[in-house]
Amino acid sequence: MRITFPHIGNAYIAIKAMLDPLGVDYVVPPKCNKRTLSLATKYSPEGVCIPFKLNLGNMIEAVELGADHILNVTGHGTCRMGYYFKVQEQILRDMGYDVTMMLTGLSEHKLKGFLNLLRSVSNNAPWSKIISSFAFGISKMTALDDMEILANNMRAFEIHKGTITPIYRKSLQAIDDASDYRALKEAVKEYGQEMSEVEVIPDYKPLKILVVGEIYVVLDPFANMDVEMELGKLGVVTKRSLYLSRWVKKGLFFNPLGIDQWRDVHKAAMPYLKRDIGGDGWETVGEKVISTGHYDGMVHLAPFTCMPEGTAQCIMPSTKEDLPVLAIYCDEQTSKAGMITRLEAFTDMITMKKAGCLSQ
Ligand code: SF4
Repeated sequence: MRITFPHIGNAYIAIKAMLDPLGVDYVVPPKCNKRTLSLATKYSPEGVCIPFKLNLGNMIEAVELGADHILNVTGHGTCRMGYYFKVQEQILRDMGYDVTMMLTGLSEHKLKGFLNLLRSVSNNAPWSKIISSFAFGISKMTALDDMEILANNMRAFEIHKGTITPIYRKSLQAIDDASDYRALKEAVKEYGQEMSEVEVIPDYKPLKILVVGEIYVVLDPFANMDVEMELGKLGVVTKRSLYLSRWVKKGLFFNPLGIDQWRDVHKAAMPYLKRDIGGDGWETVGEKVISTGHYDGMVHLAPFTCMPEGTAQCIMPSTKEDLPVLAIYCDEQTSKAGMITRLEAFTDMITMKKAGCLSQ
């Protein structure tokens, strides 16, 4: 058995960290690139969302490299994702690939489902080993998020544009290479230090923008065309509504105990949306309400044809909280140059609004 899994931003580094100590044979698909996208769009139904397409592109490239089992996510919520794995499996079979889908079962069985999956791919390794591998993967996930948060904070302040990004990329490699907790701690310390020593613009007061939306496009820089990096180049500090390590910890540990991990956000959305509409749509509306007054603007990332985010976007203009929102639809037709022009116009508008040059 040779397994593979989707890239999804930096998530693959954490998944590798869980599989390596268990001796699992796996293939990491190449990072999403033009070929991934072109395979994805060629073999996917046209109307499906970009997460489906890029995941399929990852799968095709991994199967070409010898993978025969695919770890895939599914869900029993209201979006189409619940049935995606079946369609992807059928497409791969029609292409002549004999593959088996292995579902993470996160929606239904949470932590237990994921640990059971690790056990089955590791040929029934002892539970102590499963749990320690899982914990190491989560630690890497946290370290990756910490580095990304730091980079997105610092980029806006750098005097010499483009200094932070190469340090950030090196930190990802060091985290990936770390084989134990000590090496991981050292990597975080070394590159955290390097980033904090970058020459910054004194007394600079950056705009603060919250990036929200559907989980895949929020987490994956290829899908969102490096939106946070581009905002950083414009001198903007960004924060995201979700980071994978926090999302996993809340989802896997709180949810099984019956605790609504997004209680505050759901409560904030209530005047406009009273129930889950699938994906992250409910949270997107709540984030706008809860973040007004704390940020200068919000960028809403929505995969084209995504029903939950499309619904959230329709609600957004009618909230009484007047945080400026820029909606960006992500799909294979979206051009990066077009997105940058819109980001420039958006940040100019917010700056003028703050300076009192716009009536609203
Ligand atoms: S939430 Fe939207 S983008 Fe995400 S899988 Fe569902 S339909 Fe696709």
